[in-house]
Amino acid sequence: MLILVCNVGSTSLKYKLFNMPDETILVEAKTERVGRTDAIFTYRNHCSGYSEKLENLAIPDYAAGIRLFLGYLLGEESGYCREITELEAIGFKTVLAKDYYGVHELTEEVLQAMEAYNEVAPAHNPPYIQAIRVFREILPDRLMVGCFETAFHQTIPLSRRLYAVPYEWYEQYGIQRFGYHGASHGYIARQIAAKAGETYKLISCHLGGSGSLCAIENGKSVDTSFGFSLQTGIPHANRSGDLDAYIIPFLLSRGMPMDEILRGIDKNGGLLGISGVSNDLRDIQAAADRGNERAALAIDAYCGAIVKYIGAFYAELGGLDYLVFTGGIGENSAPVREKVCSALAHLGIAFDPARNASARGEALLSAGDSRVKVYVIPTNEEVGIAQTIYERSKP
Ligand code: ADP
Repeated sequence: MLILVCNVGSTSLKYKLFNMPDETILVEAKTERVGRTDAIFTYRNHCSGYSEKLENLAIPDYAAGIRLFLGYLLGEESGYCREITELEAIGFKTVLAKDYYGVHELTEEVLQAMEAYNEVAPAHNPPYIQAIRVFREILPDRLMVGCFETAFHQTIPLSRRLYAVPYEWYEQYGIQRFGYHGASHGYIARQIAAKAGETYKLISCHLGGSGSLCAIENGKSVDTSFGFSLQTGIPHANRSGDLDAYIIPFLLSRGMPMDEILRGIDKNGGLLGISGVSNDLRDIQAAADRGNERAALAIDAYCGAIVKYIGAFYAELGGLDYLVFTGGIGENSAPVREKVCSALAHLGIAFDPARNASARGEALLSAGDSRVKVYVIPTNEEVGIAQTIYERSKP
């Protein structure tokens, strides 16, 4: 069974065509810098060996990026060598829709429910809706499935999902902690289940441009650092994370316009806001290593927030068996992993700095006698989505 997975980033489009259930990748492609005139498109067909890399392309929007990819996927020479009827489904890592939290066929009704929450996920929902509509126009007969990022967190008890505001806000407007990064945390939970069996307590730290932690017990999410929108939790690359709501009326009363306040929270905040250097941890780390104090402060604030959530989740889980780092920062930044873990020895984490420094790909980072096993595991959200769709549609 063939399943195409499309991952729509804030400036990128990534595709993987899987043969399921063996998870072989037949085709993979990527468009970077969507919206610019120097976009890069890479395409690789692993069946035929056909590959292409185009640079300095004008890709004004997601629709243009998808048309380019589908031209290659369905092309005679570059195409995927099988009948289009064998393409069972196209899966999307969709973010949030009103009243749809699981895995759903992307009907017009579901697209409208995504549109209804555009203001909660402004960097994600509009490009996804555009992308899905283009796929539907070009491949009208194929099943389109959205695996909503909120799905994995539906097992969090209501007492933890509710904000302490009038209950009617939850009933009338659905105000609650939804949680995101479900495809990644779900994938990590499955990787740990393969090592641990069915019974385990895990904290998964997905640290990338967006970051979130998830407390997982026996495969089920029981808490997460993300709340109602993707602006919450630990600081992100350029978004603030958790913020006292009363900062907003205070700044308004001092004459700062609302759009400037929002820009400070969702574009000029996070690691960029504190460091003033960059939204990319590599640049911030390099500046800190050169003695830049604000860069060092941003890293301290970032790691401190991660430590705080780990402590809270340890208490909620009543102990811990596994701590996993994933995402661009979690997989690549040995200094961040070390800073976090060296603050957690009292929780039974015996960290091995040498293993950490030399870790490439999946690796164990804790010492042999550590009560909690610490791993870095590269995430694979696309395969997680293909697995979910396959499980639901297999005969
Ligand atoms: P997104 O959340 O946008 O999908 P990623 O998970 O790919 O992003 O993470 C991107 C971030 O990973 C970059 O902003 C960068 O800060 C960080 N990163 C990537 N490689 C390294 C590295 N070698 N060292 C430190 N940080 C890194």
